[in-house]
Amino acid sequence: MGTAIVQRIHAHATPELMEAVTVTRFWSMVQSAGTDDCWTWAGDLDKNGYGVFFYQDRNRPAHELALSFTTGEKRIGRLDTCHSCDTPACCNPAHLRFDTRQSNVDDMINRDRQPRAGKLTDQEIIIIRGWRQAGARQKDLAEQFGVTDGTISMIVRGIRWPKVGGPIESDRSQYRKKVA
Ligand SMILES: [Zn+2]
Repeated sequence: MGTAIVQRIHAHATPELMEAVTVTRFWSMVQSAGTDDCWTWAGDLDKNGYGVFFYQDRNRPAHELALSFTTGEKRIGRLDTCHSCDTPACCNPAHLRFDTRQSNVDDMINRDRQPRAGKLTDQEIIIIRGWRQAGARQKDLAEQFGVTDGTISMIVRGIRWPKVGGPIESDRSQYRKKVA
């Protein structure tokens, strides 16, 4: 919607109409797709990749507004706006919920976005890398050490704990084939 039109509406509009215009403009910046797909924010992003939209005198997270505009709920202070899809720019209300910070952290750990830091010793990390190079399957290592496959994968590739010793899995496909 052109600025001139918005200004003309502004001159005469009730707050309700202005709100409707703003919400319409908001949704025009969301690339909606299928019900289950991520709906990517097409406007500005902050440094963490979250959408930003100027609303009621300040920049606000687009995903938070997407949920508020859909449900009519406002986020209260102690809650986060959480993504079930791990896509910061996603504004699909079906992927969003207001939840506690701790629950958000638990959720990340459950889905293995973060390793269970501190659970493994340096010695265990070196052993895992050694066994992996010797041909152990990630699945078996995960079971052995009580962590997820994803954590093992990040350890053997040196993404997590890069400074701890032990052989790091390279991207050589020949190596991957050997241990797959
Ligand atoms: Zn999503």
